[in-house]
Amino acid sequence: MNLILMGLPGAGKGTQAEDIVAKYKIPHISTGDIFRAAISNKTDLGLKAKQYIDKGNLVPDDVTCGIVKERLSKDDTKIGYMLDGFPRTIDQANSLEDITSELDNKLDAVINIDVDPDVLVERLSGRFICKNCGATYHKIYKMPKVNDTCDICGGHEFYQRSDDKPETVKNRLDVNIKMNTPLIDFYKQKGLLYTVDGNQNIDDVKKDIDKILQRF
Ligand code: ADP
Ligand code: AMP
Repeated sequence: MNLILMGLPGAGKGTQAEDIVAKYKIPHISTGDIFRAAISNKTDLGLKAKQYIDKGNLVPDDVTCGIVKERLSKDDTKIGYMLDGFPRTIDQANSLEDITSELDNKLDAVINIDVDPDVLVERLSGRFICKNCGATYHKIYKMPKVNDTCDICGGHEFYQRSDDKPETVKNRLDVNIKMNTPLIDFYKQKGLLYTVDGNQNIDDVKKDIDKILQRF
């Protein structure tokens, strides 16, 4: 099963991805996660990406497409993959078509988590993440079951993403909202798009995604 999970920042991609990859055992490929790992390891890619991410801008297409091609070339994607946060531009979407044709692992479906942009600032500003395993929480909508303890790995340290701070969030949302509609149209025209209502609670969004994935 070869998938894209699409949606604006804060729509719930990472949250839903945790369940999808656990259930379908396919690799979760988040370009944002790849950039954050590179930043924390201070690699050349990380240094380059940081300049854009800190301002809430998109990392240039050539850099982003290069890392996706490299990642999709690995053997673990032969059973399928789930892209999260890529593509974000039409050029990236075209590039993905070339990459997946070349690698013979074309897309089966694009799941678009559709959320009213007005709720995204609250979702992003309340987000916190387990330092050990990357699981995502929210101070109102998804607290760990046991206080200060990650549900997944039992870790006790959490952090807020630096680009979730209010000064970056506005530009991030503006940049992404502008790119979102053309991408939705792109995949609609190809007959690959499935939209779920991401304004519902986490479990109901999950059920709707499950219904779609059962067809594949
Ligand atoms: P994305 O990966 O699309 O940027 P996340 O999955 O990290 O978004 O979700 C952003 C924040 O919103 C997180 O704090 C998460 O716990 C919370 N969240 C995700 N889905 C929902 C939902 N359906 N309702 C309320 N909060 C949600
Ligand atoms: P995310 O974790 O998906 O919210 O991404 C965090 C940041 O990484 C974004 O705000 C961008 O700066 C950068 N980024 C992630 N994915 C892409 C992409 N496909 N194209 C360009 N920049 C990206």
